[in-house]
Amino acid sequence: MGTATLDGRVALVTGASRGIGRGIAERLAADGARVVVNYRSDARAAAEVVSRVEESGGRAAAVRADLSRPAEVRHLFTAAEEAYGGVDILVGNAGLARFAPLAEVSDEDFELLFTVNARATFLLLREAARRLRDGGRFVLISTGATRTVRPASGVYAASKAAAEQLVATAAKELGPRGITVNSVLPGATRTEAMVAGADPDTLAAARRGTPLGRLGEPADIAAVVAFLASPDGGWITGQALGAGGGLF
Ligand code: NAP
Repeated sequence: MGTATLDGRVALVTGASRGIGRGIAERLAADGARVVVNYRSDARAAAEVVSRVEESGGRAAAVRADLSRPAEVRHLFTAAEEAYGGVDILVGNAGLARFAPLAEVSDEDFELLFTVNARATFLLLREAARRLRDGGRFVLISTGATRTVRPASGVYAASKAAAEQLVATAAKELGPRGITVNSVLPGATRTEAMVAGADPDTLAAARRGTPLGRLGEPADIAAVVAFLASPDGGWITGQALGAGGGLF
């Protein structure tokens, strides 16, 4: 078990069935939070995350919701409230990356990236503004791609940059209730999907370009989220925090 800094708190992590979201869910549970593990399609993977948390002495529940559907975002909050009485910490981690030069981006991919990365963040923040408990936390998992400008990443970066802008606004609006709102920007982070999808040269270049000399791990990003969610993180709000080993 972790440091129990989140005892008595309820955390809702979107896209927590694998990758970075899974790492965040497991870490927040180890720190004492009861955790809602949101997933879209893989019920078995989400159930595995819940089992792992419970085997380590924590508490977690899996809730299916597709964040591209507004009604399902509302339902996700309701399910969390029914399971644990309310939400203190909301981590908007679910996201989608697609890379193509502007000349080759399809209308469908543009729609998809803005729906899952930007509009879903709006839907989560709107629900957070209405329902997150006072003293709560919102953390968006954005990307270092909003800081570096590279060919083929324009639409992905634009969709995440829109989400970061909403986060910055929410920090101003929710501060009076003691709620902090921040973005965390991972660099290249070693998840199964990312390693399977990226070409080896790109991965090697990311490793070479990272002053700390390796790719990030989900646990690296989870540690930053755990800090922001903890009482010690309470004076930081409205920030976009780079977590890429110095890559950007
Ligand atoms: P991943 O392994 O592909 O996992 C993404 C998670 O989001 C999955 O659990 C997926 O569930 C869920 N998800 C996707 N669309 C959803 C939707 N419409 N509704 C609900 N859940 C949905 O991703 P990852 O690499 O861990 O990345 C997590 C976040 O970090 C993303 O926002 C990504 O942009 C960001 N990021 C990642 C990296 C990296 O190098 N890995 C770098 C910078 C930023 P299903 O499989 O069921 O769809």
